Formats: sequence, structure tokens, C-alpha cells
Amino acid sequence: KQRILTGITTSGTPHIGNYVGAIRPAIEASRNQDNLSFYFLADFHALIKCQDPDLVAQSTREIAASWLALGLNPEEVVFYRQSDIPQIAELCWMLNCVCAKGLMNRAHAYKAAVDQNGEAGEDPDFGITMGLFSYPVLMAADILIFNANKVPVGKDQIQHVEMARDMAQRFNHLFASKKKPLFALPEYVVDDDVAVLQGLDGRKMSKSYGNTIPLFLGEKQLRKHINKIKTNLLEPGEPKDPDTSTVFQIWQAFANEQQQAEMRQAFADGIAWGEAKKQLFELINNELAEPRERYNELLANPSYIEDVLQAGAEKARRYSEPLLDRARHAVGIRKLG
Ligand code: ATP
Repeated sequence: KQRILTGITTSGTPHIGNYVGAIRPAIEASRNQDNLSFYFLADFHALIKCQDPDLVAQSTREIAASWLALGLNPEEVVFYRQSDIPQIAELCWMLNCVCAKGLMNRAHAYKAAVDQNGEAGEDPDFGITMGLFSYPVLMAADILIFNANKVPVGKDQIQHVEMARDMAQRFNHLFASKKKPLFALPEYVVDDDVAVLQGLDGRKMSKSYGNTIPLFLGEKQLRKHINKIKTNLLEPGEPKDPDTSTVFQIWQAFANEQQQAEMRQAFADGIAWGEAKKQLFELINNELAEPRERYNELLANPSYIEDVLQAGAEKARRYSEPLLDRARHAVGIRKLG
């Protein structure tokens, strides 16, 4: 079976970008019998960007409840919280010890932070932490500990999967025989049909930009958020360009082909923004109303979610424990006598 791995950082409330870009395709892939899917709540990753403990805890509940409400069957997949798998942190250390610092200097996320903040010296409040710097090593550990072969990602994450592959190769080269490599070499999968949704302000929708449409807003709030999507100043009757419009882009992510063609025509005919947004609300609400009810029930029952996560962690450790034992042995961490 192909092993597929996807994580979502528990640093805020999940949004429709996470849904369209990660959760919806992942749940579809999990129904394919040829795959074994590993889906996880990336709470160690959350600590890189977020030092608000209540937010991390609340986000973990919300993201777990979202996956379950949207139909993820924890029996069919391996669904777990990253921090419940101690082997990930341990492998992360071993990988740190074989990963060249120069490789990390090239990581996009780190370079972007340097561009924004400068190297920022020794003050962790303004600077770049070791967590941010070495985040691709943690991501490599997430992937390699389960020997995942396929990692679906957005384009911005391709480089990090390639780095994980480099680390796997290096580790295999140093510590395993050619015939029996320890780690599978992971490949990224970029699905060009999966859109990267724009947020209310037109930038990429992202928890850290505060420009999102949260996935399970109540109807009134959902309508309000959709009304806040930035549009240009065209009047009703003036033709509008669908290809530069956030309203149309989000429409496309939820509509079938016929609905897409109809909206394209409506844009050409100069549909009023208010009307386009009203229709967008109805389309999204239609898809999410049912899971929203399940989501709210689940959120009210955190101990059930915890049970699901504990069972998932047990299942995950059945993969991670033997692999880590082999890695320990390979590097020379062995029982004496
Ligand atoms: P952060 O702002 O903390 O980086 P995020 O909202 O960008 O968070 P992540 O938790 O980093 O989301 O990503 C989880 C998954 O959701 C990834 O697979 C990512 O590609 C996908 N994703 C995130 N934002 C979008 C978006 N705007 N459109 C489509 N997919 C997205």
C-alpha cells in the first residue's frame, strides 16, 4: 500500500482553505483501498508560531473535530496527535545530527522570516527561534517515522519534502546497507486541481494572516465573513473578471462544473457583488451545514475526541516504535550485554 501523510498545524481555527486544500482531498484519498493514510494534528509544529497555550489546545480540539465531522473514519486511517508519538521527537534529534546546517539556511520558511525580521540577534521575541530554523527537520521526522511514500503538499512545501528525502538518503547512506535501507524516500504530490484559496484580503488564506473564513461558522457569521471578501469597485451590470476575483475562486472550489460555467457567465453579465456573495454563501452553506452539526456535537464532547486520538496514537506507535528501534540500533544506541 502507498503510505500517504498529511498534517495540519494546531495554531488556530481551521478554515475553508484547509478544507479545500487538505482535509477534503485527504478524506477522499483515505477511501481508496490502495492507500494507507496517516493524518495528524501537528501540535509540535504549532509551538513554532504560537505561544498561546489555550489557543493550541483549543485548536487541537477544533481540528480533530473537523476531520471527524467531515467523515474521516479513524478505523480506516491512522489519525493521531503528533505529540503522542514520542518517536517523532527522538528521530528528529537523530536527523538533526545528519542534516547540514547549510541545507536549512536555504529553507523557504526560514528565508522568508529572515527577509521579514532580519536575523534579529538573540532576542527570541523578535527573532527566529531554533524551532523555526530547524522546522524542516521535524517535518522530515514526521514523514520518515512512518516511511510515508507520498506527501500531498502545496507548492510552498515541495522544498521541505525534498529536504526530508535528502535526510533519508543521508541516514540510509551512513547507517544502513544498500539492500536494506532504513527509510523509504518520500515523494511530494502536488495536485494542480486543488486551489490555494485566497483570504478576505486577497492574500493566501492563512491562520497566521487572520484573513480566513473559518470552516464551521454559524450561518449568520458565515454570511458576514463572505460579505467581507474584498472586491473591486465595479457596479452591478458591469462585466467582472472571474479570474482575478476571490469570490469566484472560492465559488470554483465548491461548485460543480455546471455551476462554475453559470457563474462565469453571470460575471460576464455583470452580476452584482452582493448577489454573487449571496449565492456563494448558499453554495458553501449547503456543503457544510450537515458536518457543522456533527462538529458542534463533537466539540461538546472532548473526551470522546481524546479517546479517538488515544486509539489512533496507539495504532501509530505500532509503526513508529519498531522503526525507531531499528534507527537507534543503526546509530549505535544499543543495550549493553
Ligand atoms: P499557518 O498560517 O499556521 O501556516 P495555514 O492555515 O496556512 O496555517 P497549515 O496548517 O500550515 O495551514 O496547512 C494545513 C494544510 O492546509 C496544508 O496541506 C496546506 O497546504 C493547506 N492549506 C493552508 N492554507 C490553504 C489555502 N489558503 N488554500 C488551500 N490549502 C491550504
